[in-house]
Amino acid sequence: MADLDPPFHTDPGSSMLGFSLTSPDLVICAGSPDLPSNNSRDSTDSFLNKCHQKMETALELSLDKGIKGSQEIKRNRDQLTVRFSTASPSLIHVLSLSPGSSFELPPPDVSEDKDNSMMPYADDAENEHGGSSPELAINYKRQKVELARMRKEMEELKKENCLKTKECQEALKSLQELQNELMRKSMHVGSLAFAIEGQVKEKSKWFSSLRDLARKLKIMKMEQMKLSEEAATYKSCLQDVNCISATIQSKINQQEELHNDLKAKFVEGAKERKELYNKVLELKGNIRVFCRCRPLNSEESTAGASVAVDFECSSDGELTVKSNGAFRKTYKFDSVFGPQADQADVFEDTAPLATSVLDGYNVCIFAYGQTGTGKTYTMEGTDEARGVNYRTLEEFFRIIKEREQLYRYDITVSVLEVYNEQIRDLLASGTQSVPPTKRLEIRQSGEGTHHVPGLTEAHVNNMSQVWEVLQTGSNARAIGSTNSNEHSSRSHCLHCVMVKGENLLNGECTKSKLWLVDLAGSERIAKTEVQGERLKETQNINRSLSALGDVISALATKSPHIPFRSKEP
Ligand code: ADP
Ligand code: MG
Repeated sequence: MADLDPPFHTDPGSSMLGFSLTSPDLVICAGSPDLPSNNSRDSTDSFLNKCHQKMETALELSLDKGIKGSQEIKRNRDQLTVRFSTASPSLIHVLSLSPGSSFELPPPDVSEDKDNSMMPYADDAENEHGGSSPELAINYKRQKVELARMRKEMEELKKENCLKTKECQEALKSLQELQNELMRKSMHVGSLAFAIEGQVKEKSKWFSSLRDLARKLKIMKMEQMKLSEEAATYKSCLQDVNCISATIQSKINQQEELHNDLKAKFVEGAKERKELYNKVLELKGNIRVFCRCRPLNSEESTAGASVAVDFECSSDGELTVKSNGAFRKTYKFDSVFGPQADQADVFEDTAPLATSVLDGYNVCIFAYGQTGTGKTYTMEGTDEARGVNYRTLEEFFRIIKEREQLYRYDITVSVLEVYNEQIRDLLASGTQSVPPTKRLEIRQSGEGTHHVPGLTEAHVNNMSQVWEVLQTGSNARAIGSTNSNEHSSRSHCLHCVMVKGENLLNGECTKSKLWLVDLAGSERIAKTEVQGERLKETQNINRSLSALGDVISALATKSPHIPFRSKEP
């Protein structure tokens, strides 16, 4: 309540009516019109004057009733002193004196009234001097009258004093009540001030948050204006966009029509290309025969031979075998590969067949020849020089990648061996057991193709899987015999690659097979002069090769009957 302080401020420590004025409630009290602050002084003065006046005639200033026996009156020759030692606080307040203070009365006129100051002894004086002097008697009487009057006056003064004392007590009482009231009020004011202070603080907080809100509102208004402007701009943009999107949509529709048209044309074109491509292959020859003459092996080199086969070859595939420098026999092939031709050169002429297989045609590649002429090398190859089997599948995956937007393919591989008219699944687990526990048979399907039910089919999605499958088959073939070289040359090894294709544009599905066959050695029985088990092996080999020859011959001559199932040569 700092703002309330200045108007009511009074010097600290100052007092009024004997109370400390340090408390603000008493400050308010000082201003109260009920308090006879000035009157007390006036009444005190008049009272003293009265006393003084009476002292001139009588010194019996008996204040023992009003002052309650606390006073001491000292009189000497020159002055009269009234001393209060333990005066009642009420009277002290009226006189504006503190306990122990004194005030002096002017001395009575001794010259005039020396004997009168000894009023208690007046009767004695009368007794001493009465009758002796009429003047004295008169004087005595006068004095007596005067004394009686003074006594009466004293009585009145006493009464007045009592009255005043009572008044003072009442005034004090009311003053105390007022003080208490003031205390209560002050406390109330204090609590109100506290509450107001809290409210003021709260209010200032509200004001500051109001200010913040106002500021935020201003910012938001500005932002809103900006956003409204932007919205208006966007609105106009939206109209443009709608216009553009309508144009784009119509263009898209046109393009879609065009696309569908092109798609249909493409499907048609692809079909045509496929047919033409295969026609070309057919024109090249549905059955093509390539000849490969291997280089000398290390044994032959050390033996001093210069060539494995002495031959001459023309560019159109005509090959003439020479013997001791003389021309012996001439053969006609689609292509002839000399000793210098590597695996890639040989595969070059085989590669187009991979496209045919993926287009849905069945293809069969055989390696035919005597033992040691390089059939297995050509078909399987080595780690460093991989053969036709691996390279054909590699070509498959290359084309599949190329066509991935248009076709989806599923490729599975089976590897089997035909030995002594028995089929062995080279991918089945436990292929070491010879003869195999499960007997496999060739069956003809409704479409005229042949298959072996129950054969293991391995799905391949990449070349590492292909290589794994090829290695598994190759190893199983070698393990099947105590002499792997001899066994492999007396059995046919067949890789069957099954291709399922789906045209993603028209949903057309194809199913085709590629057979990669490493045939058993084609030695003549007469030359080998074998007997027993070996003879049986050789007979089986020759019979099967002869049957194969019949089939190829019938296919080549486009015979109406192809002897696929013929058992006799
Ligand atoms: P086959 O399977 O016809 O009995 P192989 O393929 O086993 O004959 O070949 C016999 C040997 O001659 C093998 O050691 C093979 O590595 C080697 N050979 C065959 N053809 C070639 C060739 N074109 N280049 C190098 N070595 C060859
Ligand atoms: Mg071989």
